[in-house]
Amino acid sequence: PDDEVVRSGRGSVRFDLPTIEPETQPFWDGAAEERLVIQRCGACGVWQYYPRPFCKVCWSEDVAWVEASGAATLYTFSVVRRNDLPPFGDRVPYVAAVVDLAEGPRMVTEVVDCDLDAVEIGMPLTVTFRDLESDGLKLPVFRPA
Ligand code: ZN
Repeated sequence: PDDEVVRSGRGSVRFDLPTIEPETQPFWDGAAEERLVIQRCGACGVWQYYPRPFCKVCWSEDVAWVEASGAATLYTFSVVRRNDLPPFGDRVPYVAAVVDLAEGPRMVTEVVDCDLDAVEIGMPLTVTFRDLESDGLKLPVFRPA
């Protein structure tokens, strides 16, 4: 069954679009405006990502959406040279990455605008946004700072 989706879908089915829930809407609204918006706890001040209805540290429900600096460092990465799911196959090779935001949370993302040979753990990065060409959606990704 999964094979059928891929075979019938290249060019029409996409695997890179988010399923937006009420809990994640502010993140996508911010990204559409090219702002990286994540949650910060009003009680203890900790930042968190992914979004949750309560603080991951103190369980307070006083969590607010706040714009992050967009600064990050590369925690780890992998150069993807094959991906059969549309539209990723059109982008290979690309750099799948985990970054540490300056505010603390770790984020799964992609490093763009960088020679593959120049990608290095610990390198400073800054957020940029990929236009998903679907309902104004944009996706935060990272480039060298
Ligand atoms: Zn807290």
